Amino acid sequence: MKIIMLGAPGAGKGTQAKMISEKYGLPHVSTGDIFRANIKNGTALGMEAKQYMDKGLLVPDELTVKILLDRVAQDDCKNGYVLDGFPRTIPQAEVLEDALSKLGDKVDYAINVDVPDENIINRMSGRRACVTCGATYHIEYAAPQKEGICDKCGSELILRDDDKPETVKARLSVYHEQTQPLIDFYKSRNVLKEVDGTVSMQEVFDSIVAILG
Ligand code: AMP
Repeated sequence: MKIIMLGAPGAGKGTQAKMISEKYGLPHVSTGDIFRANIKNGTALGMEAKQYMDKGLLVPDELTVKILLDRVAQDDCKNGYVLDGFPRTIPQAEVLEDALSKLGDKVDYAINVDVPDENIINRMSGRRACVTCGATYHIEYAAPQKEGICDKCGSELILRDDDKPETVKARLSVYHEQTQPLIDFYKSRNVLKEVDGTVSMQEVFDSIVAILG
């Protein structure tokens, strides 16, 4: 099963992608996580991606498409995957569609986690991420047991540069301009499913499970 998560930054698609990954035994492939791992390791790819990410802009398609295609060609992806944060532009979606069609394959579900902009800014400013393992929390909705400390590895939690309010506004306008058109793209492929992302994490997940079976 090949699943794409759509939705504005902060809509909760990463959390849902992880829950889907666990329940259905599919690898969770997040281009944002791949870029962050490269930044942490100081690779050339990481250095280049960071310049865009810190401004709330998209990393250029050539770079993003290559890392994604390399990732989904790995062995653990042969029975499917959940894509979180890819595609984010129509050209990215077309490259994925072409690559899959060469294998006689296609995306099975594109799940749009729908959350209005007003809710997004509030949600993202409360988000905290672990500096070491990348686990994410929310000071109101998914607080760690001890304030500022990661439950999983005990490291410090921070507000990521790309979750700061100015950056969030930039990311939202990039989302509306470049990513939202994917909703119509996948609707035209008859694989689009919409879920209300404003309800609790578990309720969102329940509606996704009702779709995936
Ligand atoms: P995310 O963790 O998915 O919110 O991604 C964080 C940042 O990484 C985004 O704001 C972009 O700068 C970059 N990024 C992640 N995925 C993509 C993509 N598919 N295309 C371009 N840039 C991306």
